[in-house]
Amino acid sequence: MIIQARRRLCRVASFTIAAITLATAGCGQPGTQRFFLTPPEIQPTPAGPRAAAPRYVRVSRDLITPGFIAATGFEQDHVTGETHAFGWINSTSLDFVQNEVLSSSAPSESRAGLQFLDEDALRGVAVDPDTMMTREPVLAKSTGAYPGSNESRDYHDYEELTAELEALAAGSPALARLENAGPSVASRNLWYMKAGARLDAANGGPRTLLIANMHGDETAGRELMIYLLRDLLGGYNRDERITRIMNGSQVFVMPSMNPDGFEDRQRWNGDYKDLNRSFPDFTDDPNDTINGRPPEVAAVMKLHDRYAFANSLNFHGGTVCFNMPWDTKPNRQSSEKFGDDAYMNSLARAYTSSNRTMRDNHGGTFDHGVTHGYEWYEVDGGMQDWSIHYRDTTHATIELSYAKTVSAGNLETVWRENREAILDFLDRSTFGVHLNVVDDASGATLASRVEVTTSNAPRATGFRSGLVHRMTPAGTWQVTVRAAGYVPVTLQVTASSFNGSLQTVRLARAS
Ligand SMILES: [Zn+2]
Repeated sequence: MIIQARRRLCRVASFTIAAITLATAGCGQPGTQRFFLTPPEIQPTPAGPRAAAPRYVRVSRDLITPGFIAATGFEQDHVTGETHAFGWINSTSLDFVQNEVLSSSAPSESRAGLQFLDEDALRGVAVDPDTMMTREPVLAKSTGAYPGSNESRDYHDYEELTAELEALAAGSPALARLENAGPSVASRNLWYMKAGARLDAANGGPRTLLIANMHGDETAGRELMIYLLRDLLGGYNRDERITRIMNGSQVFVMPSMNPDGFEDRQRWNGDYKDLNRSFPDFTDDPNDTINGRPPEVAAVMKLHDRYAFANSLNFHGGTVCFNMPWDTKPNRQSSEKFGDDAYMNSLARAYTSSNRTMRDNHGGTFDHGVTHGYEWYEVDGGMQDWSIHYRDTTHATIELSYAKTVSAGNLETVWRENREAILDFLDRSTFGVHLNVVDDASGATLASRVEVTTSNAPRATGFRSGLVHRMTPAGTWQVTVRAAGYVPVTLQVTASSFNGSLQTVRLARAS
């Protein structure tokens, strides 16, 4: 079965844009007339085997009306153009599309406005949806195959990833522990490495979570996480910054949140669920529970419950940018923005300062590689917004490569473009205000929720106990600490990298 899968994978190396197949004849200019579609009657989901995969389409923007979305389940991809967009429609709506959009009785502009695409053909290349011309992938020249090549930087399939992570953990038992957040739909483990010098300390410092490959066909991050772990574990007590990161934080690295999607060469999980649309969305889903969620989403939610994360990045592909919250609601005025927008912006600029490909992505909503999510395109049910809103994590999304599926020969380049940026992000994640909030009478660390506001940002950050690591930029900040039943305290704290010590804050009970 593995051999079969590999044979299938090797086709990727030979794709060309000409391999894109169009189900409709012609590719004329889209009309400007708006064309509203009537949704079909909702049919009960037929019982039986696994549903068919969604179909990848290129659609004229004129066609993307609420009616079209309701009828087809259309989800827009982030590769967007002025006149056209890429995206997916439900396989269950194929008849509707055939009869209402592509039939000879449909207006010609709508027929010209929708094409089915061969996703295999698109994998590994970045295509402009307006012109259907390929955009240069990360490297102009793509060499290695995926994953069976002999390149020095090669993809790990699931078994190889497991073996590599086990070997890394076994090689550095004092610095790393391999844990499993899974299982996936197909019972693969969602491995994550817990790394840090204070691995088992009650207070191991701020926790940073890096997640890659939640879309199975967005692959570079999966390998970058392995390279990062090699550097973190191999560089301890050799490299000053890496030593500071390992001493000053706990780094959690999940190379693949969607191991089934990776093996199946698809975006979705094993049930064709888009994991980055399946988290509780705070604008319309107050149900912050794992009930009914895909198992991979439930696993990450439970991981947040087990470890409260201060900072997080998740890695995707298909363009190159640093995507800031919010994805699900506008970020126009400061009152609408994420409360740590300024801090996040400083993290984003730091990230892009060492990634030239990202910095050069300028225009539209991209300001030298940095964008707010919603203004780029709305995402509902995304992981980033969930983890910020529901779990008080500071979370951003990184797009690593113009091609979603980066050929193995280009992995080294993507790593070179992002290594400094990721290490710098981890270094900054050790930095901020580190407090031990105690009951004034007993001297014991509070066991209940504590809220901390710092004068650099309007955002009040919640913590599960009096052990507080509030990330801030360098500076001396006015810090206000609140807990139910206690008198709030405001004090001045100078931010620092965590070195094991906490500043004690005593709260007196309210009478
Ligand atoms: Zn993605």
